[in-house]
Amino acid sequence: MSSITKEQVYEWLSGVTDPEVPVLTILDLGIVRGVKMSEINGSPSATVVITPTYSGCPAMDVIGMNIRMALISRGIRHVNIEMQLSPAWTTDWMTEDGKRKLNEYGIAPPLRKAANPLGLFEEDNIACPRCGSEETELVSQFGPTSCKSLYKCTSCHEPFEHFKCH
Ligand SMILES: [Zn+2]
Repeated sequence: MSSITKEQVYEWLSGVTDPEVPVLTILDLGIVRGVKMSEINGSPSATVVITPTYSGCPAMDVIGMNIRMALISRGIRHVNIEMQLSPAWTTDWMTEDGKRKLNEYGIAPPLRKAANPLGLFEEDNIACPRCGSEETELVSQFGPTSCKSLYKCTSCHEPFEHFKCH
């Protein structure tokens, strides 16, 4: 068997970041659903199972490519990316660490879905990542990317992005 362990692969994957939000790793996002190790003709091979965050998110192609490069550069000859569409990714899979990093980056993190099971008033009470005020207003449902909406803080008057619940 090859000497590369699954744990090592996870460690390497923790160096792959979201091209849209570079402070988040793909592990922070919670899109890596599994890693399978095998061997093809004596060469180490890995299958990485990922669930896309948003269907049609162009970032997923880039993420798949970055995973390939990260693992191939470490000596894994064959890298297979397996897309798992069900169950669908939800923002609840994002780690607490990831949400904290998102906030520090200036993007209001998604609210917990569990606290809001029906998805009602989803865009209410989004705290400003700069001053923490909840006196914020929605400017546009669609920010620079479809994954984010645009807000404005009425306390510090700064606009900010909110990573939408999903
Ligand atoms: Zn503010």
